[in-house]
Amino acid sequence: MDLGQIAQYCYNLTTSYLRIENATSVISETQDAIKLTRRCFLDDIFPTWSPLNSEISFSYNGGKDCQALLLLYLSCIWEFFLLTLEHSLYDPKYHAFPLKELPTVFIDHEQTFSTLEEFVATSSKRYCLSLYESGRDNERDTSMADAFKKYLEVHPEMKAFVIGIRHTDPYAANLKAIQRTDANWPDFVRLQPFLHWKLANVWSFLIYSNEPICGLYGLGLTSIGSINNTLPNPHLKVDQDDKPNLMFQWEIEHAFSDSKDASGEAVNVSTVNAADLKLLNQPQDRYLPGWYLTDDSLERAGRIKKE
Ligand code: FAD
Ligand code: MG
Ligand code: MG
Repeated sequence: MDLGQIAQYCYNLTTSYLRIENATSVISETQDAIKLTRRCFLDDIFPTWSPLNSEISFSYNGGKDCQALLLLYLSCIWEFFLLTLEHSLYDPKYHAFPLKELPTVFIDHEQTFSTLEEFVATSSKRYCLSLYESGRDNERDTSMADAFKKYLEVHPEMKAFVIGIRHTDPYAANLKAIQRTDANWPDFVRLQPFLHWKLANVWSFLIYSNEPICGLYGLGLTSIGSINNTLPNPHLKVDQDDKPNLMFQWEIEHAFSDSKDASGEAVNVSTVNAADLKLLNQPQDRYLPGWYLTDDSLERAGRIKKE
């Protein structure tokens, strides 16, 4: 799929999710969350910063939050593209989508899991991202603010960055959907249309999407940091005979697909790198996958210092 096609695919997926009726309360809450994010993009952001002429870059690190937001961003870009054609005499199919790749930035400043790096690479292809990666090798120690300063030296045309941060993240309680950066950061606009999303909303939409997600979540990770401070979430530890209840069974069984031979049996996760499996999989312990955790206050409980 090219960028126009994947944007249209994400639009179809989002529309399909919004049409679900009488399923579960988390789905109706997530539908409200999507509608708010959609209005923020279409009414508040795109009239000022167009996603179609390289004024916006998307902050992407392969995590669940920015992936869910990316699906919505692409969906809204497709809608915005259709709006620009409103006065055209020709059918949309006769208009070429104006972008080939989506400007994206990944600050690779931590010692990341290979599985995550591989996932960033494969998902970048799937979503047609033109991924700027900073922080390779000798630059790993630079701060995120410095990394963005460098990015802006290469891309001075960028005015605003989309960020998949949520109110329940550290220091994020008082953030706003649109705001400039703080004084110790390079000056640009932060676009944060995902603040109101809860963990359960993220999982519901991602699982329904049927898009491959980073395989580390399948091992009980709920928040992915560096390999030095990330372990499976202790609240997901279970005994062999535990029969846990999954909040998102409906989403798995009715997962989105544009082909008839969809499986609808399991969450679609990327392959875990063997070294990461060795690092995270302790044979004596059993952890449920990350999507079994829906309490926002426990999301980072796996981020602990290893002894
Ligand atoms: P996560 O859930 O890991 O990240 C939240 C979101 O941040 C992700 O969904 C993704 O969109 C983005 N992100 C996180 N890590 C990366 C990465 N390595 N590469 C690319 N994107 C990433 N903090 C301030 O105090 N003041 C600021 O003015 C400020 N401006 C920022 C501007 C941008 C464009 C970004 C990306 C971050 C900024 N931050 C700023 C930091 C921000 O508030 C979070 O602390 C930071 O994103 C890390 O989030 P997290 O690890 O807590 O949560
Ligand atoms: Mg997050
Ligand atoms: Mg992070």
